[in-house]
Amino acid sequence: MSSRLIDGKAVAAEVDDSLKPRLEALRSRGVNPCLAVVIVGDDPASHVYVRMKGKACEKLGMSHRTHALPESVSEEDVFSLIDELNADKEVHGILCQLPLPPHIDERKVTERIDPRKDVDALHPYNVGHILLGDPLFLPATPAGIMKLLEHTGIGIAGLHAVVLGRSNIVGKPIAAMLMQKGVDATVTVAHSYTRDLPDLTRQADIIIAAVGKPLFVTADMVKKGAVVIDVGTNRIEDTSSEKGYRLVGDVDFEAVKEVASAITPSPGGVGPMTIAMLMNNTVLAAELSLNGTRSL
Ligand code: NAP
Repeated sequence: MSSRLIDGKAVAAEVDDSLKPRLEALRSRGVNPCLAVVIVGDDPASHVYVRMKGKACEKLGMSHRTHALPESVSEEDVFSLIDELNADKEVHGILCQLPLPPHIDERKVTERIDPRKDVDALHPYNVGHILLGDPLFLPATPAGIMKLLEHTGIGIAGLHAVVLGRSNIVGKPIAAMLMQKGVDATVTVAHSYTRDLPDLTRQADIIIAAVGKPLFVTADMVKKGAVVIDVGTNRIEDTSSEKGYRLVGDVDFEAVKEVASAITPSPGGVGPMTIAMLMNNTVLAAELSLNGTRSL
């Protein structure tokens, strides 16, 4: 058996296309969505992600601003910048690239962002509404995963989804979204204390791997015909590559594709979807600013 490849780049292009008429409608009312990204320090990987988000905005003709602050910036100065961005009518979406240096409290920064501009959906207001099944924004990576699952055409209701990882940005929200009424998966969440993991994953109709460990999910952990979504992006050493490394997922793609019915590659699966869904959230934030967002 060889599985169907779930092409994240192609599905992301479809999402981009679906944004175009919404962007035209906004522009006809004098609004061009603008994403403001705050980044602190010099972490090269974080800067790469921020540049990718800027390029994605440019591709759609949307505005973006990057506020790059030095590692030594004070927490108060980060708060002041966020306050300014919250008040700025030209800015529709705000995100703070994580991780932040240890002297800046990520939670406080996240809570400072106006929930109506919180396109990463990390503010407790948005997290709460996701859990209640009444979201304002959906976090970009889990929203992208849901689109990819939709694209496979499988009916999710009643299926057993095993989510590997319980982070605030992937594991917890995707588990909440999969168990929501109308989606109706039966969800198991595994983490580093989970016992007999292969036994558990072999019972899964859907595996969402968000562990951050290269090639962690092996073929013997996957039931024949399962759908496998690989969220992981891990660098492994590769002397044959110019960069000295290559990116691999949390799933042993080559082996697991022989067992699964459908599988995402990594890179080229969830990654492009994350960016596309961030663009979707920025457009949504601009629409909310025009149409009178619900009061908080
Ligand atoms: P994270 O915050 O490091 O969380 C990893 C999770 O995996 C934790 O909940 C951890 O459990 C769990 N875990 C670790 N070892 C395990 C084991 N042996 N068995 C079961 N669970 C185990 O990571 P994250 O931010 O969610 O990201 C996960 C991966 O996705 C990373 O490779 C990241 O780069 C990638 N990612 C990709 C995108 C994208 O757009 N493509 C977006 C976000 C993240 P504990 O809670 O017990 O420690």
